[in-house]
Amino acid sequence: MGAAPRITIVGASLAGLRTAEAVLALLPEARVTLIGDEASVPYNRPPLSKDVPQALAQGAAEAAQFARLVLRSKIPEGAVQMRLGQAAVSVGPGGVRLADDTLVPGDWIVAASGLRPRRLALPGAEAHRHVLRSFDDAVRLARDLRPGARMVVVGGGFIGCEIAATARKLGLHVTLVEPAPHPMQRALGPRVAGAMAALHRAHGVVVVTGRSVAGLTLEHVILDDGQALEAEVIVEALGSHPNVEWLAGSGADLSDGVLVDDQMRAIGASRILAVGDLARFANPLFDAVPRRVEHWCVPGQTARRAAETIAAQEMGHIPTAGFAPMPSFWSDQHGLRLQAFGAPALADATRVVEGDLTQIGHHPIIVEYLRDGLPVGVLGLGANPAALAAHRARLDAALSTSVAC
Ligand SMILES: Cc1cc2nc3c(=O)[nH]c(=O)nc-3n(C[C@H](O)[C@H](O)[C@H](O)COP(=O)(O)OP(=O)(O)OC[C@H]3O[C@@H](n4cnc5c(N)ncnc54)[C@H](O)[C@@H]3O)c2cc1C
Repeated sequence: MGAAPRITIVGASLAGLRTAEAVLALLPEARVTLIGDEASVPYNRPPLSKDVPQALAQGAAEAAQFARLVLRSKIPEGAVQMRLGQAAVSVGPGGVRLADDTLVPGDWIVAASGLRPRRLALPGAEAHRHVLRSFDDAVRLARDLRPGARMVVVGGGFIGCEIAATARKLGLHVTLVEPAPHPMQRALGPRVAGAMAALHRAHGVVVVTGRSVAGLTLEHVILDDGQALEAEVIVEALGSHPNVEWLAGSGADLSDGVLVDDQMRAIGASRILAVGDLARFANPLFDAVPRRVEHWCVPGQTARRAAETIAAQEMGHIPTAGFAPMPSFWSDQHGLRLQAFGAPALADATRVVEGDLTQIGHHPIIVEYLRDGLPVGVLGLGANPAALAAHRARLDAALSTSVAC
Protein backbone atom coordinates (compact mmCIF):
# COMPACT_ATOMS: atom_id res chain seq x y z
CA MET A 1 0.00 0.00 0.00
CA GLY A 2 1.23 3.55 -0.77
CA ALA A 3 1.40 6.61 1.50
CA ALA A 4 -1.61 7.33 3.70
CA PRO A 5 -4.20 9.17 1.58
CA ARG A 6 -4.88 12.85 2.23
CA ILE A 7 -8.59 13.62 2.50
CA THR A 8 -9.42 17.32 2.48
CA ILE A 9 -12.96 18.22 3.47
CA VAL A 10 -14.38 21.71 2.87
CA GLY A 11 -17.21 22.62 5.25
CA ALA A 12 -16.83 21.94 8.98
CA SER A 13 -20.44 21.27 9.86
CA LEU A 14 -22.62 18.15 10.07
CA ALA A 15 -21.69 16.63 6.69
CA GLY A 16 -17.99 17.50 6.95
CA LEU A 17 -17.65 16.12 10.47
CA ARG A 18 -19.55 12.92 9.67
CA THR A 19 -17.35 12.41 6.59
CA ALA A 20 -14.19 12.77 8.68
CA GLU A 21 -15.53 10.22 11.16
CA ALA A 22 -16.58 7.75 8.47
CA VAL A 23 -13.26 8.05 6.60
CA LEU A 24 -11.22 7.43 9.76
CA ALA A 25 -13.41 4.45 10.68
CA LEU A 26 -12.55 2.80 7.35
CA LEU A 27 -9.04 4.21 6.80
CA PRO A 28 -7.55 4.92 10.23
CA GLU A 29 -4.22 5.92 8.68
CA ALA A 30 -5.79 8.63 6.44
CA ARG A 31 -4.60 12.21 6.90
CA VAL A 32 -7.82 14.19 7.19
CA THR A 33 -8.12 17.97 7.12
CA LEU A 34 -11.41 19.73 7.87
CA ILE A 35 -11.68 23.30 6.55
CA GLY A 36 -14.47 25.57 7.77
CA ASP A 37 -15.13 29.26 7.22
CA GLU A 38 -17.01 29.56 10.54
CA ALA A 39 -14.59 30.09 13.44
CA SER A 40 -16.48 27.73 15.74
CA VAL A 41 -16.35 23.96 16.08
CA PRO A 42 -19.08 22.05 14.16
CA TYR A 43 -22.57 22.53 15.60
CA ASN A 44 -26.14 21.46 15.01
CA ARG A 45 -28.48 23.83 13.13
CA PRO A 46 -32.09 22.61 13.67
CA PRO A 47 -32.50 24.29 17.11
CA LEU A 48 -31.56 27.66 15.55
CA SER A 49 -35.15 28.23 14.40
CA LYS A 50 -36.77 26.61 17.43
CA ASP A 51 -35.63 26.79 21.06
CA VAL A 52 -32.29 28.62 20.70
CA PRO A 53 -33.59 32.08 19.69
CA GLN A 54 -36.35 31.69 22.27
CA ALA A 55 -33.87 30.91 25.05
CA LEU A 56 -31.54 33.75 23.98
CA ALA A 57 -34.42 36.23 23.81
CA GLN A 58 -35.39 35.19 27.34
CA GLY A 59 -31.88 35.97 28.59
CA ALA A 60 -30.03 32.64 28.37
CA ALA A 61 -26.25 33.00 28.03
CA GLU A 62 -24.89 32.71 24.49
CA ALA A 63 -22.04 30.43 25.51
CA ALA A 64 -24.40 27.97 27.19
CA GLN A 65 -26.72 27.92 24.18
CA PHE A 66 -23.81 27.32 21.80
CA ALA A 67 -22.45 24.54 24.03
CA ARG A 68 -25.79 22.70 23.67
CA LEU A 69 -25.38 22.69 19.88
CA VAL A 70 -21.81 21.41 19.58
CA LEU A 71 -21.82 18.16 17.60
CA ARG A 72 -20.42 15.21 19.51
CA SER A 73 -17.78 13.35 17.58
CA LYS A 74 -16.15 9.94 17.76
CA ILE A 75 -12.90 11.31 16.30
CA PRO A 76 -9.93 10.80 18.62
CA GLU A 77 -8.25 14.03 19.77
CA GLY A 78 -5.77 15.23 17.14
CA ALA A 79 -6.79 12.70 14.45
CA VAL A 80 -8.12 15.47 12.17
CA GLN A 81 -6.36 18.69 11.31
CA MET A 82 -8.90 21.49 11.79
CA ARG A 83 -8.58 24.69 9.74
CA LEU A 84 -11.42 26.78 11.19
CA GLY A 85 -12.20 30.40 10.33
CA GLN A 86 -10.72 29.81 6.86
CA ALA A 87 -12.74 29.81 3.63
CA ALA A 88 -11.75 27.65 0.70
CA VAL A 89 -11.55 29.87 -2.38
CA SER A 90 -10.59 27.43 -5.12
CA VAL A 91 -9.61 23.87 -5.90
CA GLY A 92 -7.04 22.55 -8.35
CA PRO A 93 -4.82 19.53 -8.95
CA GLY A 94 -2.61 20.51 -5.97
CA GLY A 95 -5.48 20.71 -3.47
CA VAL A 96 -7.65 23.39 -1.92
CA ARG A 97 -6.58 27.03 -1.83
CA LEU A 98 -7.65 29.00 1.27
CA ALA A 99 -8.49 32.69 1.59
CA ASP A 100 -5.06 33.33 3.22
CA ASP A 101 -3.49 31.83 0.05
CA THR A 102 -2.23 28.65 1.71
CA LEU A 103 -2.70 25.41 -0.22
CA VAL A 104 -4.06 22.35 1.58
CA PRO A 105 -3.08 19.30 -0.47
CA GLY A 106 -5.59 16.48 -0.95
CA ASP A 107 -5.71 13.19 -2.82
CA TRP A 108 -9.48 13.34 -2.34
CA ILE A 109 -11.49 16.51 -1.89
CA VAL A 110 -14.87 16.31 -0.20
CA ALA A 111 -17.24 19.25 -0.75
CA ALA A 112 -19.42 19.71 2.34
CA SER A 113 -19.89 23.46 2.11
CA GLY A 114 -23.69 23.43 2.37
CA LEU A 115 -25.96 26.36 1.64
CA ARG A 116 -26.44 30.03 2.43
CA PRO A 117 -29.76 31.88 2.63
CA ARG A 118 -31.23 33.55 -0.42
CA ARG A 119 -31.96 37.23 0.12
CA LEU A 120 -34.67 39.55 -1.15
CA ALA A 121 -33.20 41.48 -4.06
CA LEU A 122 -34.56 44.73 -2.61
CA PRO A 123 -32.88 47.56 -0.72
CA GLY A 124 -34.18 49.05 2.54
CA ALA A 125 -34.74 48.27 6.22
CA GLU A 126 -31.20 46.85 6.49
CA ALA A 127 -30.97 47.27 10.28
CA HIS A 128 -33.82 44.90 11.05
CA ARG A 129 -33.58 42.33 8.25
CA HIS A 130 -32.58 38.81 9.28
CA VAL A 131 -31.72 35.41 7.81
CA LEU A 132 -31.20 32.21 9.77
CA ARG A 133 -28.48 29.72 8.96
CA SER A 134 -25.75 30.17 11.58
CA PHE A 135 -25.55 30.53 15.35
CA ASP A 136 -24.50 34.17 14.85
CA ASP A 137 -27.71 34.73 12.82
CA ALA A 138 -29.76 33.31 15.72
CA VAL A 139 -28.00 35.58 18.24
CA ARG A 140 -28.69 38.63 16.08
CA LEU A 141 -32.34 37.65 15.55
CA ALA A 142 -32.92 36.96 19.24
CA ARG A 143 -32.02 40.59 20.08
CA ASP A 144 -35.07 41.70 18.04
CA LEU A 145 -37.52 39.16 19.50
CA ARG A 146 -39.28 41.54 21.88
CA PRO A 147 -42.84 40.77 23.02
CA GLY A 148 -45.28 43.02 21.15
CA ALA A 149 -42.89 43.72 18.24
CA ARG A 150 -44.25 43.35 14.70
CA MET A 151 -42.48 40.69 12.66
CA VAL A 152 -42.93 39.84 9.00
CA VAL A 153 -41.55 36.48 7.89
CA VAL A 154 -41.04 36.41 4.12
CA GLY A 155 -41.24 32.82 2.89
CA GLY A 156 -43.33 29.98 4.27
CA GLY A 157 -40.96 27.03 4.08
CA PHE A 158 -40.08 25.01 7.17
CA ILE A 159 -37.59 27.54 8.54
CA GLY A 160 -39.96 30.49 8.01
CA CYS A 161 -42.83 28.60 9.66
CA GLU A 162 -40.68 27.53 12.61
CA ILE A 163 -39.48 31.10 13.19
CA ALA A 164 -43.08 32.35 12.98
CA ALA A 165 -44.12 29.81 15.64
CA THR A 166 -41.14 30.66 17.88
CA ALA A 167 -41.85 34.38 17.64
CA ARG A 168 -45.54 33.88 18.49
CA LYS A 169 -44.51 31.95 21.58
CA LEU A 170 -42.48 35.01 22.61
CA GLY A 171 -45.48 37.34 22.12
CA LEU A 172 -44.56 39.03 18.84
CA HIS A 173 -47.24 39.95 16.26
CA VAL A 174 -46.30 37.77 13.29
CA THR A 175 -47.32 37.93 9.63
CA LEU A 176 -46.10 35.18 7.30
CA VAL A 177 -46.01 36.02 3.58
CA GLU A 178 -45.95 33.17 1.07
CA PRO A 179 -46.48 33.34 -2.73
CA ALA A 180 -47.99 29.80 -2.95
CA PRO A 181 -51.59 29.06 -1.85
CA HIS A 182 -50.30 27.65 1.49
CA PRO A 183 -47.04 27.69 3.46
CA MET A 184 -44.98 24.47 3.06
CA GLN A 185 -47.17 23.39 0.14
CA ARG A 186 -44.29 22.14 -2.00
CA ALA A 187 -43.05 19.86 0.79
CA LEU A 188 -46.36 18.71 2.29
CA GLY A 189 -48.91 18.96 -0.54
CA PRO A 190 -52.00 21.22 -0.56
CA ARG A 191 -54.21 19.31 1.94
CA VAL A 192 -51.69 19.02 4.75
CA ALA A 193 -50.23 22.46 4.03
CA GLY A 194 -53.76 23.90 4.25
CA ALA A 195 -54.20 22.24 7.65
CA MET A 196 -50.83 23.61 8.80
CA ALA A 197 -51.90 27.12 7.70
CA ALA A 198 -55.01 26.70 9.87
CA LEU A 199 -52.78 25.68 12.80
CA HIS A 200 -50.64 28.80 12.35
CA ARG A 201 -53.75 30.99 12.19
CA ALA A 202 -55.16 29.33 15.32
CA HIS A 203 -51.96 30.35 17.10
CA GLY A 204 -52.30 33.96 15.99
CA VAL A 205 -50.01 34.06 12.95
CA VAL A 206 -51.46 36.19 10.15
CA VAL A 207 -50.87 34.03 7.06
CA VAL A 208 -50.88 35.99 3.79
CA THR A 209 -50.69 33.71 0.74
CA GLY A 210 -50.51 34.28 -3.00
CA ARG A 211 -48.48 37.44 -2.43
CA SER A 212 -44.82 38.39 -2.68
CA VAL A 213 -42.78 41.34 -1.48
CA ALA A 214 -42.40 44.34 -3.78
CA GLY A 215 -40.58 46.79 -1.50
CA LEU A 216 -39.17 47.54 1.94
CA THR A 217 -39.28 50.80 3.84
CA LEU A 218 -38.00 51.62 7.31
CA GLU A 219 -41.32 50.58 8.89
CA HIS A 220 -43.16 48.50 6.30
CA VAL A 221 -42.97 45.48 4.04
CA ILE A 222 -44.86 46.38 0.85
CA LEU A 223 -46.58 43.53 -0.94
CA ASP A 224 -47.16 43.20 -4.69
CA ASP A 225 -50.83 44.21 -4.26
CA GLY A 226 -49.78 47.44 -2.52
CA GLN A 227 -50.59 46.25 1.02
CA ALA A 228 -48.19 47.72 3.60
CA LEU A 229 -47.39 45.43 6.56
CA GLU A 230 -45.92 47.09 9.64
CA ALA A 231 -42.56 45.50 10.38
CA GLU A 232 -40.02 46.16 13.13
CA VAL A 233 -38.42 42.77 12.42
CA ILE A 234 -38.16 41.14 8.98
CA VAL A 235 -37.02 37.55 8.46
CA GLU A 236 -36.05 36.51 4.95
CA ALA A 237 -36.72 32.77 4.75
CA LEU A 238 -36.69 32.33 1.00
CA GLY A 239 -34.65 29.17 0.58
CA SER A 240 -30.94 28.83 -0.11
CA HIS A 241 -28.03 29.03 -2.54
CA PRO A 242 -25.46 26.20 -2.65
CA ASN A 243 -21.93 27.29 -1.63
CA VAL A 244 -20.18 26.11 -4.80
CA GLU A 245 -18.15 29.13 -5.91
CA TRP A 246 -14.86 27.63 -4.64
CA LEU A 247 -15.41 24.65 -7.00
CA ALA A 248 -15.58 26.79 -10.15
CA GLY A 249 -13.39 25.40 -12.93
CA SER A 250 -13.06 21.97 -11.29
CA GLY A 251 -15.07 20.24 -14.02
CA ALA A 252 -17.92 19.41 -11.60
CA ASP A 253 -21.51 20.17 -12.65
CA LEU A 254 -22.49 23.03 -10.30
CA SER A 255 -25.88 23.82 -11.79
CA ASP A 256 -27.71 23.21 -8.46
CA GLY A 257 -25.25 22.11 -5.81
CA VAL A 258 -22.80 19.44 -6.97
CA LEU A 259 -24.15 16.71 -9.24
CA VAL A 260 -22.80 13.36 -8.00
CA ASP A 261 -23.08 9.70 -8.99
CA ASP A 262 -24.28 6.96 -6.64
CA GLN A 263 -20.84 6.91 -5.00
CA MET A 264 -20.98 10.65 -4.21
CA ARG A 265 -18.31 11.38 -6.86
CA ALA A 266 -18.79 14.66 -8.70
CA ILE A 267 -19.74 14.06 -12.31
CA GLY A 268 -16.86 15.55 -14.30
CA ALA A 269 -14.35 15.60 -11.40
CA SER A 270 -13.95 12.08 -10.01
CA ARG A 271 -11.45 12.99 -7.20
CA ILE A 272 -14.01 15.42 -5.79
CA LEU A 273 -16.94 14.07 -3.80
CA ALA A 274 -19.91 15.99 -2.41
CA VAL A 275 -22.00 15.33 0.68
CA GLY A 276 -24.84 16.82 2.72
CA ASP A 277 -27.12 19.64 1.59
CA LEU A 278 -24.74 20.38 -1.31
CA ALA A 279 -24.92 16.97 -3.02
CA ARG A 280 -27.42 16.46 -5.85
CA PHE A 281 -28.01 12.77 -6.39
CA ALA A 282 -30.62 10.39 -7.77
CA ASN A 283 -32.33 8.15 -5.25
CA PRO A 284 -33.52 4.90 -6.90
CA LEU A 285 -36.12 4.53 -4.14
CA PHE A 286 -38.08 7.16 -6.10
CA ASP A 287 -36.73 7.70 -9.64
CA ALA A 288 -33.64 8.68 -11.62
CA VAL A 289 -33.91 12.44 -11.13
CA PRO A 290 -30.97 13.94 -9.19
CA ARG A 291 -32.09 16.22 -6.36
CA ARG A 292 -30.58 18.01 -3.41
CA VAL A 293 -32.24 17.09 -0.11
CA GLU A 294 -32.01 19.60 2.73
CA HIS A 295 -32.72 17.31 5.67
CA TRP A 296 -30.56 16.60 8.70
CA CYS A 297 -30.38 12.84 7.93
CA VAL A 298 -28.69 13.34 4.55
CA PRO A 299 -25.24 14.49 5.76
CA GLY A 300 -24.76 11.24 7.71
CA GLN A 301 -26.04 9.03 4.88
CA THR A 302 -23.96 10.70 2.17
CA ALA A 303 -20.87 10.96 4.40
CA ARG A 304 -20.83 7.19 4.96
CA ARG A 305 -21.27 6.61 1.24
CA ALA A 306 -18.43 9.01 0.34
CA ALA A 307 -16.12 7.36 2.87
CA GLU A 308 -16.93 3.90 1.47
CA THR A 309 -16.10 5.17 -2.02
CA ILE A 310 -12.74 6.59 -0.95
CA ALA A 311 -11.86 3.50 1.10
CA ALA A 312 -12.84 1.14 -1.72
CA GLN A 313 -10.68 3.04 -4.22
CA GLU A 314 -7.74 3.26 -1.84
CA MET A 315 -7.89 -0.46 -1.08
CA GLY A 316 -8.54 -1.49 -4.69
CA HIS A 317 -12.03 -2.86 -3.94
CA ILE A 318 -15.10 -2.46 -6.06
CA PRO A 319 -17.51 -0.19 -4.15
CA THR A 320 -20.79 -1.77 -3.10
CA ALA A 321 -23.53 -1.22 -5.66
CA GLY A 322 -26.47 1.14 -5.27
CA PHE A 323 -27.22 4.01 -2.93
CA ALA A 324 -30.86 4.32 -1.91
CA PRO A 325 -31.10 6.06 1.47
CA MET A 326 -34.51 6.56 3.11
CA PRO A 327 -34.98 10.30 3.65
CA SER A 328 -36.57 11.56 6.85
CA PHE A 329 -37.20 14.96 8.39
CA TRP A 330 -38.90 16.57 11.32
CA SER A 331 -40.16 20.02 12.19
CA ASP A 332 -41.61 21.55 15.36
CA GLN A 333 -44.28 24.25 15.07
CA HIS A 334 -46.66 25.48 17.82
CA GLY A 335 -45.88 22.43 19.95
CA LEU A 336 -46.68 20.03 17.08
CA ARG A 337 -44.02 17.56 15.92
CA LEU A 338 -44.06 16.80 12.20
CA GLN A 339 -42.10 13.65 11.37
CA ALA A 340 -41.81 12.36 7.81
CA PHE A 341 -40.20 9.44 6.02
CA GLY A 342 -39.75 9.09 2.29
CA ALA A 343 -40.41 11.94 -0.13
CA PRO A 344 -43.87 13.51 0.46
CA ALA A 345 -42.92 16.31 -1.96
CA LEU A 346 -43.01 13.83 -4.87
CA ALA A 347 -46.58 12.67 -4.20
CA ASP A 348 -49.60 13.44 -6.38
CA ALA A 349 -52.15 12.31 -3.76
CA THR A 350 -52.53 11.95 0.00
CA ARG A 351 -54.56 9.60 2.20
CA VAL A 352 -55.21 10.36 5.85
CA VAL A 353 -54.73 6.96 7.50
CA GLU A 354 -55.13 8.06 11.11
CA GLY A 355 -56.99 11.03 12.61
CA ASP A 356 -58.56 13.98 10.86
CA LEU A 357 -56.81 17.05 9.41
CA THR A 358 -59.49 19.36 10.85
CA GLN A 359 -58.28 18.24 14.30
CA ILE A 360 -54.65 19.25 13.68
CA GLY A 361 -52.81 20.05 16.88
CA HIS A 362 -55.49 18.36 19.00
CA HIS A 363 -55.32 14.72 17.90
CA PRO A 364 -52.60 12.59 16.26
CA ILE A 365 -52.73 12.40 12.47
CA ILE A 366 -50.88 10.15 10.03
CA VAL A 367 -50.91 10.87 6.30
CA GLU A 368 -49.72 8.56 3.55
CA TYR A 369 -48.32 10.14 0.38
CA LEU A 370 -48.85 8.38 -2.97
CA ARG A 371 -47.48 8.78 -6.46
CA ASP A 372 -49.25 6.96 -9.28
CA GLY A 373 -51.11 5.07 -6.54
CA LEU A 374 -47.94 3.81 -4.82
CA PRO A 375 -46.63 5.02 -1.42
CA VAL A 376 -43.70 7.49 -1.56
CA GLY A 377 -43.91 8.95 1.93
CA VAL A 378 -45.59 9.04 5.30
CA LEU A 379 -46.03 11.97 7.67
CA GLY A 380 -47.02 12.07 11.31
CA LEU A 381 -48.48 15.24 12.82
CA GLY A 382 -48.27 14.82 16.57
CA ALA A 383 -48.33 11.08 15.91
CA ASN A 384 -47.45 8.36 18.34
CA PRO A 385 -43.93 7.12 17.35
CA ALA A 386 -44.99 3.46 17.52
CA ALA A 387 -47.98 4.04 15.22
CA LEU A 388 -45.78 5.99 12.81
CA ALA A 389 -43.13 3.24 12.87
CA ALA A 390 -45.72 0.72 11.63
CA HIS A 391 -46.55 2.97 8.66
CA ARG A 392 -42.87 3.55 8.02
CA ALA A 393 -42.29 -0.20 7.87
CA ARG A 394 -45.01 -0.46 5.21
CA LEU A 395 -43.37 2.38 3.28
CA ASP A 396 -39.95 0.67 3.51
CA ALA A 397 -41.47 -2.52 2.13
CA ALA A 398 -43.29 -0.72 -0.71
CA LEU A 399 -40.24 1.30 -1.73
CA SER A 400 -37.85 -1.64 -1.60
CA THR A 401 -40.20 -3.53 -3.93
CA SER A 402 -40.14 -0.61 -6.35
CA VAL A 403 -36.30 -0.54 -6.29
CA ALA A 404 -36.16 -4.27 -6.95
CA CYS A 405 -38.43 -3.98 -10.05
C1 LIG B 1 -32.36 27.02 10.95
C2 LIG B 1 -32.35 25.60 10.45
C3 LIG B 1 -33.23 24.68 10.96
C4 LIG B 1 -33.25 23.36 10.48
N1 LIG B 1 -34.14 22.47 11.02
C5 LIG B 1 -34.18 21.20 10.54
C6 LIG B 1 -35.12 20.27 11.07
O1 LIG B 1 -35.92 20.58 11.97
N2 LIG B 1 -35.14 19.02 10.54
C7 LIG B 1 -34.31 18.62 9.54
O2 LIG B 1 -34.38 17.47 9.06
N3 LIG B 1 -33.36 19.49 9.04
C8 LIG B 1 -33.29 20.76 9.51
N4 LIG B 1 -32.37 21.65 9.01
C9 LIG B 1 -31.46 21.20 7.94
C10 LIG B 1 -30.13 20.64 8.47
O3 LIG B 1 -29.66 21.39 9.53
C11 LIG B 1 -29.15 20.64 7.29
O4 LIG B 1 -29.64 19.66 6.38
C12 LIG B 1 -27.72 20.33 7.71
O5 LIG B 1 -27.21 21.34 8.54
C13 LIG B 1 -26.83 20.25 6.46
O6 LIG B 1 -25.51 20.05 6.85
P1 LIG B 1 -24.29 20.34 5.86
O7 LIG B 1 -23.07 20.02 6.67
O8 LIG B 1 -24.52 19.68 4.56
O9 LIG B 1 -24.36 21.90 5.54
P2 LIG B 1 -24.19 23.15 6.52
O10 LIG B 1 -24.72 22.79 7.87
O11 LIG B 1 -24.75 24.32 5.80
O12 LIG B 1 -22.62 23.33 6.65
C14 LIG B 1 -21.79 23.81 5.64
C15 LIG B 1 -20.59 24.46 6.29
O13 LIG B 1 -19.64 24.81 5.28
C16 LIG B 1 -19.20 26.14 5.51
N5 LIG B 1 -18.69 26.70 4.23
C17 LIG B 1 -19.41 27.22 3.21
N6 LIG B 1 -18.59 27.64 2.21
C18 LIG B 1 -17.33 27.37 2.64
C19 LIG B 1 -16.04 27.59 2.07
N7 LIG B 1 -15.87 28.12 0.84
N8 LIG B 1 -14.94 27.22 2.79
C20 LIG B 1 -15.09 26.66 4.02
N9 LIG B 1 -16.28 26.45 4.62
C21 LIG B 1 -17.38 26.78 3.92
C22 LIG B 1 -20.45 26.82 6.05
O14 LIG B 1 -20.16 28.05 6.70
C23 LIG B 1 -20.94 25.75 7.01
O15 LIG B 1 -20.26 25.82 8.24
C24 LIG B 1 -32.34 22.97 9.47
C25 LIG B 1 -31.43 23.91 8.94
C26 LIG B 1 -31.44 25.22 9.42
C27 LIG B 1 -30.46 26.22 8.83
